[in-house]
Amino acid sequence: MGRKTYKNRWKKNLLTFFSIFLILLSACGNGPPEAEVQSGSAGKIEELEVHFIDVGQGDATLVKCGGQSMLIDAGENDKGTLVQNYIRKQGVKKLDYLIVTHPDSDHCGGADVIITKYDVDTVIMPNYSKDTASYRDVVQALDYKHYQVTEPKVGDIYRLGDAKFTIIAPNKDDYGNEANNYSVGILLEHGGKKFVFTGDAEEEAERDIINNGIDLSADVLKAGHHGSRTASMGDFVSAVCPEYAVISCGEDNEYGHPHAATLNTFRSMGIKVFRTDEQGSLIACSDGSEITWNAPPSDTWKAGEPGLSGSNATVKQGSKGVTYILNTKTKKFHKPSCDSLPTENRDDSAQSREEVIAQGYTPCGRCNP
Ligand SMILES: [Zn+2]
Ligand SMILES: [Zn+2]
Repeated sequence: MGRKTYKNRWKKNLLTFFSIFLILLSACGNGPPEAEVQSGSAGKIEELEVHFIDVGQGDATLVKCGGQSMLIDAGENDKGTLVQNYIRKQGVKKLDYLIVTHPDSDHCGGADVIITKYDVDTVIMPNYSKDTASYRDVVQALDYKHYQVTEPKVGDIYRLGDAKFTIIAPNKDDYGNEANNYSVGILLEHGGKKFVFTGDAEEEAERDIINNGIDLSADVLKAGHHGSRTASMGDFVSAVCPEYAVISCGEDNEYGHPHAATLNTFRSMGIKVFRTDEQGSLIACSDGSEITWNAPPSDTWKAGEPGLSGSNATVKQGSKGVTYILNTKTKKFHKPSCDSLPTENRDDSAQSREEVIAQGYTPCGRCNP
């Protein structure tokens, strides 16, 4: 850890020094031709591409600028190869950065494939682990490649071609067991254009981002937590005040993402919405003063239906009489329609409320079963 951090800091210092050197040169008005070659033709910056890859229910975003690239999350366990193929088709040979926002499987699941198949310069992950197979696979892949993890420090700035990004979250070391709130958040800047990414950060983490004092105003907001009502709080969206919001979620997902409340927030603020569940992968291109998209915004404003594919899945499993969903680890039980059903340690029960409680389960505070 120490060595890698030192190396990064050294790199950053060198970059800062180099930028000052360039600024000084251009201030003189007649820099040598080499300097012009280095900084590209006068006034123009390398184009930035942001690919919101359709990975169904989950997140994976590829950011490319100049010759450099970054991947933010890699979708579920079974989406690693899809993400690998996508970024290969985009001509990515190595990754300068891989951000695994948090250890939930719909974000870290495919990361083991990416780490194994690609050379990655800097891996940024929050200091929060989860005892799940998905997360253990990521740690194993990191060990296999002898990679060390760079911890996100709010305010740290990294270069990506002619773009840069600033770490804006997590702002606390301890959010209890709320994995989503440990999400790494970044503000990506390219010329005059800005993007905000917050992983699955929910209300508490969003409030902490606002309170850290960084100017959050941006053109594009990647909606937190797949458009869930537990994220994209009014205050947060106001602070970002984006022209566009992008929602990454799966068609007919069992959580009912995006939730109507989130869509209403965006709609009432006149924000145009893009959705991977309806539109597939979405690509934003920035030249530093304008952003263009590969598709027009969605105009359906259609909220997901909670438990839709969940109930389909239940029927498929042939267990029609499901009464409650149990989390065998936390010993909480949920209504099948709850929007925070367990993805791991899940047991679909057909028992009565009394029977479930008799086994030591307590009701979920969110759905009050
Ligand atoms: Zn998620
Ligand atoms: Zn999550």
